Amino acid sequence: MTTYTPSRTLVERVRAGDTRAVSRLISRAEAGVAEARDALAEIYRATGRAHVVGITGVPGSGKSTLVGKITQRLRADGSKVGIVAVDPSSPYSGGAILGDRIRMSELGTDPGVYIRSMATHGATGGLARAAMDVVDILDVAGFDTVIMETVGVGQDEVEIARASHTTIVVSAPGLGDEIQAIKAGMLEIADIHVVSKCDRSDAIRTLTDLKSMLVLGARGSGADWRVPVIGTSVVSGEGLDELVDAIRRHKRIAFDTEMGRLRQRQVAEFRLLKTAEAILTERFVQQRAQKTAEYTERLLTRRDDPYALASALIEDSLKTN
Ligand code: GDP
Repeated sequence: MTTYTPSRTLVERVRAGDTRAVSRLISRAEAGVAEARDALAEIYRATGRAHVVGITGVPGSGKSTLVGKITQRLRADGSKVGIVAVDPSSPYSGGAILGDRIRMSELGTDPGVYIRSMATHGATGGLARAAMDVVDILDVAGFDTVIMETVGVGQDEVEIARASHTTIVVSAPGLGDEIQAIKAGMLEIADIHVVSKCDRSDAIRTLTDLKSMLVLGARGSGADWRVPVIGTSVVSGEGLDELVDAIRRHKRIAFDTEMGRLRQRQVAEFRLLKTAEAILTERFVQQRAQKTAEYTERLLTRRDDPYALASALIEDSLKTN
């Protein structure tokens, strides 16, 4: 007879696609590295099946709306879709966080869709680590596509989008800066560019500007893949099928080509470094709580210098387990 530790039971349930177990494990993963470490280790070994799609763009560019439309289309052939909405900067997006906006759409009650928001406003680092853990959990729980939506306002969020097989960058007309992708440094990370709200007359300019920028400095295109620029409108439905088709075509690149293997390696490296960073930060924060008063005193009385004490603080954190 096999005996299971509680976390093992949870992993087994996740693997069986039990969404309550998925939610529980995600909460543990969000709480910190230590809380879920064994379970996540087991989960990680079983990953690799889901197509991970990152979607990023400045607030208001239409990401949540698009995610809803993409998901509906992917669902049409029965595939299950997991959505991770990373919203570290909810003050920017003014009100409802990304995941809530998707949830409020027509997807809310579909059992083949799982939506999780991660609004870790104020948390100490580790957002990328937690977001990628959530993607793993959904992968293992049987979601065929996992969409990771991030607000493209900071380096971290842009990087999170990059930690996917297929990255979509959304720009929209009428948001001030014609091509927000350039401003936020997102131009080069796109495998697929979208200009949303093409029912608006000023969208033409955004489209042309983006296309000429790409001719000037595109990277990411290779022998197997030319980065498409797709105009979409949720009002007329324009471009939505084309976008889903591009996502499906890029999935084949990601899984079946040398370019895709290279990308998977980059993602693995990013994963490694971000996890190391998260562990270090967690330990440092714990250690800091214990030692700051003592070291501050030593600094104040000029017994030691700031560099020696800061180094000591770091070394103390490395010693703890
Ligand atoms: P996000 O902040 O990037 O997730 O953007 P949202 O999906 O919340 O969309 C921002 C606003 O743009 C909302 O008011 C949407 O209704 C609107 N919007 C999204 N897509 C389109 C579109 O294709 N055409 C038009 N006219 N408005 C759109």
